[in-house]
Amino acid sequence: MKNELISKYEPVRTLIVIIGLGFFLSSCAALPARPGGSGDDGRLSVNYLLVNDVYEIAPLAGGSVGGMARVATLKKEYLRKNPNTFLVMAGDFLSPSVYNSLQYEGRRIRGRQMVEAMNAAGTDLAVFGNHEFDINESELQSRINESSFRWVASNTFHKKDNALRPFARESGTASEAFPETWIQQVTDADGTVARIGFIGLTIPFNKAPYVGYTDPLATAEKLYEQLKDSCDAVIAVTHQLVQDDILLAKRLPGLAMILGGHEHDRRFQKVGNVFVMKAHANAKSAYAVELLINKKRNRLRVKPELRMIDAAIPDDAATAAVVERWTEIANDNYAAIGFDPKKIILRTSEPLDGRESQIRKEATNMTVLIVKAMEAAAPEADAVILNAGSVRVDDVLPMPLTEYDILRALPFGGGIMLADMKGSLLIQTLEAGRKNTGTGGFLHYSETLTHDPATNAWSLKGAVVDPAKTYRVAFPDFLLTGGEANMDFLKKENPAIVDVHPYTPNPGDLRSDIRLAIVKYLEKI
Ligand SMILES: [Zn+2]
Repeated sequence: MKNELISKYEPVRTLIVIIGLGFFLSSCAALPARPGGSGDDGRLSVNYLLVNDVYEIAPLAGGSVGGMARVATLKKEYLRKNPNTFLVMAGDFLSPSVYNSLQYEGRRIRGRQMVEAMNAAGTDLAVFGNHEFDINESELQSRINESSFRWVASNTFHKKDNALRPFARESGTASEAFPETWIQQVTDADGTVARIGFIGLTIPFNKAPYVGYTDPLATAEKLYEQLKDSCDAVIAVTHQLVQDDILLAKRLPGLAMILGGHEHDRRFQKVGNVFVMKAHANAKSAYAVELLINKKRNRLRVKPELRMIDAAIPDDAATAAVVERWTEIANDNYAAIGFDPKKIILRTSEPLDGRESQIRKEATNMTVLIVKAMEAAAPEADAVILNAGSVRVDDVLPMPLTEYDILRALPFGGGIMLADMKGSLLIQTLEAGRKNTGTGGFLHYSETLTHDPATNAWSLKGAVVDPAKTYRVAFPDFLLTGGEANMDFLKKENPAIVDVHPYTPNPGDLRSDIRLAIVKYLEKI
């Protein structure tokens, strides 16, 4: 559609928003059925169901929210009303997940459980999120090959030998390259045909060596120009910051809508005539969006509805069977490392705040709890340090809390290292943590460890930390690899590390897994 035509949509769309907020949001009626045999009426309705940032195949919070089997049922519900219904995943589903550290058939699972659940649920279209590149190249290739849904990758490419090529689904000798755009042709019962163009954008954030990007905005502008004249509507499916979606909507006001992901806490905004929508992470909700195309009058209408995904939606049996199978595989893995995922360990409490926006800049009830659990697991330590990046749940955990919640909140697990270090190194580490505010390298630590902004001095139990004195400090063993941001100095080889006290790698030692330390601490209190 040309811009000239698009401009004609504006009054209609504005009207829809006004009415939509009061009426359409609660009702998603399809176009009235036309009497049979009257032929193409030039009007067509398509339903898109959007989920994004889904790391869990099974429902959470004691089974009360989310779950891919419910997403599948929801799709079927809309399919009954409108055969032109499509399930869209706007990125971040292969990682991070507690499944990533688990093994099946001798290999790490690495998102395989999610691809199978998405296949079963009838996913139609996916775009890459930044987390898809957390897993290695061959693992991602396996997940792509296992997927039965369509991918669109407008600005994200497979980097090989310093050249950018499309990612591709491979099967035997056949290779199906991911297109930069896709035109979906839909036909309705009376024969109306519409062409809907898709652009798929990913935030160029994950610098895995095998992925390369072009600029999302410039790419979208270029591809939109290519699509707009031959399509009745153009949709951007994105995985980027909401401010970038807003900018995209401003630059391309003729877009029909932006179906987005990356933020976890639901976004709904209208920019000009373009709705920007992101559902809650982990399929706690989905956006059901009806796109009405009136070809005769060159009009588009967009009717969004937020659908909460909870126990009111029954499981789809086929998807539930996939979820159940993987849940059993996972439970066997957990049992081997000393966990009972279904066990409730905290019934009544304020919800635990594990949102990255909070824990990467300040203590929350969740980080305080983890630090206390580490202290209990390593009572010989003078102080405990935790990097915020150990906590990956990026969500508020409601009660009741199960062992599985702890497993998924700290999907990387890892042991608690105990090291004797000079005060100079302790100060250097804590200062690096301060510089890392806003990132996973931000540090949480024992309440007895304090920083005075006036003097910039660090104190332990009321006494200023002495650079020459030796302190016994407990922290996740990842920190002693030097792998944390601005902490490459924190390694065993650092001469200021006087001694290291390793843990025993079995569930009998609470230091063997930080999650075991948390579970046992909660059992005690
Ligand atoms: Zn993301």
